[in-house]
Amino acid sequence: MSEFTPRTSAALARAIVLAAKARSAMSAGASLEKALEASCQDASPQEKAACQALVYTATRRHMLAQAILTILAQRSPEAQIKAILLVSLSELIESPQKSYVICNEAVKAVKSINSRAAGFANACLRRFTRERDALCAKALERDEVRFNAPVWWINKMRGALGTTKADKMMALAQKRPPMTVRVNRRKITPVDWCAIAQSAGLQTRPLGQSAVMLENPVPVGDLPGFAEGLVSVQDAGAQLAAQFLAPQNGQRILDACAAPGGKTAHLLELADCSVTALEVDSMRCKRIHENLQRLGLKADVRTSDATDIACWHDGTPFDSILLDAPCTASGIVRRHPDIVFSRRPGDIEALAKQQKRLLEALWPLVKFGGKLLYVVCSVFKEEGQDQIKNFLSRHPEAELAPVAERAPLMLTLAASEDDQESFPGIAPVHDGFFYALLLKH
Ligand code: SAM
Repeated sequence: MSEFTPRTSAALARAIVLAAKARSAMSAGASLEKALEASCQDASPQEKAACQALVYTATRRHMLAQAILTILAQRSPEAQIKAILLVSLSELIESPQKSYVICNEAVKAVKSINSRAAGFANACLRRFTRERDALCAKALERDEVRFNAPVWWINKMRGALGTTKADKMMALAQKRPPMTVRVNRRKITPVDWCAIAQSAGLQTRPLGQSAVMLENPVPVGDLPGFAEGLVSVQDAGAQLAAQFLAPQNGQRILDACAAPGGKTAHLLELADCSVTALEVDSMRCKRIHENLQRLGLKADVRTSDATDIACWHDGTPFDSILLDAPCTASGIVRRHPDIVFSRRPGDIEALAKQQKRLLEALWPLVKFGGKLLYVVCSVFKEEGQDQIKNFLSRHPEAELAPVAERAPLMLTLAASEDDQESFPGIAPVHDGFFYALLLKH
């Protein structure tokens, strides 16, 4: 999802109320996407865009705003007012140059809920603008506030990547992600698309084989040629999946966990192969159809549990399988900042079991001499390195191959802005992923 902020001050008060409603739903357990959808049911596209930007900022600044509000308010205000104040404080933290407008519109938002709370809200927000540096410095002394994540998550990240790398990645997760597109090479070359984009006023930076990063995010509909299928939005790290699987003309390929279809489409853009795309969630399956239709591509899309082999498989083995398994998503927090708050420590083990079940069910479907690319957008060892080491110990017929020349046998890619730590070609901007390529003998 891209984030941009087409905000006018007049619409801001209404957007703050909508965003506060979404944040309250998230506190009660809803995902960011579902909460946004529900709170913006009756909103105009502009209001929704403004609300979305506020909700993302409020999620990325959640711990800091909360710590500051605790200092500012001696007693916790009623739930709706508190949610408005947290959204507004987050916005003040993010955009100090707009403090005047944000305070005014936040107070209007509070008045629309409870006029008696307006004075209190005004006092809190104005005090924050006066004492911002001292208040932030005090709150940021705690790691949970600094990294906007619960302590268990911070410890888990440090255990997986080492403190230096984990701290860098967690700091990066608080920034807006880059907007990266995948150029549909069936229709246009990246060089030609960049030329069109530049003439439309967009600054572009080619990253990998088909990846182009935009210096400034724009609404998806404003990407030149989007409706015609020239480009799709996809992170540069995610684009490595199809590159590593390297589909060939005539091959039969399974994309076992396919929605919303980004990697299915990429495979089809790279070769004249036949792809079976499975997805257990029927609503998400619709997104695969929509994406393929826009791009002018065809796949055998089925709603099915990939582990329920008898239900969907005709018995013919596949040349290649892409298993982009469900995971904690610890590598994509920058794009989905709610993840750290919705995950529980027990989820890692439960997801690792699900990944093992998928690996075991699908491996027999790879033909001898064929390959399976295992992918998770997580940097936790249980879902990556350990999962694959355990798989290899159970399967002597499986061998690890490097995903690319000079790449390690198992590639853990931490989101980074540091050229040295990234995979060549897509440096310096991508999400966190784990890749392992298994060959069958
Ligand atoms: N490959 C996709 C892409 O690039 O657009 C992203 C896949 S996402 C990481 C994992 C997907 O697997 C989710 O859509 C989830 O609903 C689906 N999934 C989870 N368990 C599954 C199963 N047993 N069979 C098929 N799909 C499953």
